[in-house]
Amino acid sequence: MVEELAKLKDEGLIKYFGFSFHGTPEILQEVVKDYNWDFAQLQVNYLDWDVVKAHEQYNIVQELGIPVTVMEPLRGGGLVNLSEKAMAKLKENYPNSSPAEFGLRWAASQKNVVTVLSGMSNLTQMKENIATFENFTPMSEEEIKVADEIAKIIQSQGEINCTACKYCMEVCPKGINIPAIFSLYNQYKVTNSAFHLKIYYETLSESERANNCIKCGLCNKNCPQNLPIPDLLAQVQKDYEKA
Ligand code: SF4
Ligand code: SF4
Repeated sequence: MVEELAKLKDEGLIKYFGFSFHGTPEILQEVVKDYNWDFAQLQVNYLDWDVVKAHEQYNIVQELGIPVTVMEPLRGGGLVNLSEKAMAKLKENYPNSSPAEFGLRWAASQKNVVTVLSGMSNLTQMKENIATFENFTPMSEEEIKVADEIAKIIQSQGEINCTACKYCMEVCPKGINIPAIFSLYNQYKVTNSAFHLKIYYETLSESERANNCIKCGLCNKNCPQNLPIPDLLAQVQKDYEKA
């Protein structure tokens, strides 16, 4: 495939030829040798920097001078809907900064980043994103430090690192709504409210719930975050039944 696409680039039909990557640093080391890439698209945000070893991947492409396109700068919205504690840390330091602006600026402040992709659901979010980049200033050392502290708070809450990409759902023979289950479970972890876990879990139809999992493991193969999905679903179900 690389050879064929490289030909199209030589013919001028492709301007920038790069790749998008979810995997281990070891595999990335192999991929970067395959071609003289114009860019690498990596999952880079201040939480995944450590959680999924994003810094190792970033360093590999950075050393080769390959420009970086960032995906998931706000971790599928996870860095927008901060817990009370994480939000308090942000506001105590930067009261005028929104979580989205903070996360986008963090990603764009890394060296060699040429593009930051961000999913937007409405016009307000689009306007906010445009404003962030129109007057873009890279983050200071102090701001980076605060981002690290927020990341530590988030990690201490025991949330599931699901980005809601839904790749797992493409292969689940039981039609379990895995990202929705993990999302409501994360809210429960942040709020520690068993009542909310129960209420929100029951908004899912019976067929979408975790207890239908047959542990076939197909979803695991499709999860870019390498989450042990069947085990996590079992945990959610257990906590729901206790709630
Ligand atoms: S292990 Fe469970 S959640 Fe995963 S694909 Fe199989 S049935 Fe679906
Ligand atoms: S594939 Fe993994 S990260 Fe994506 S929605 Fe499913 S559990 Fe979440």
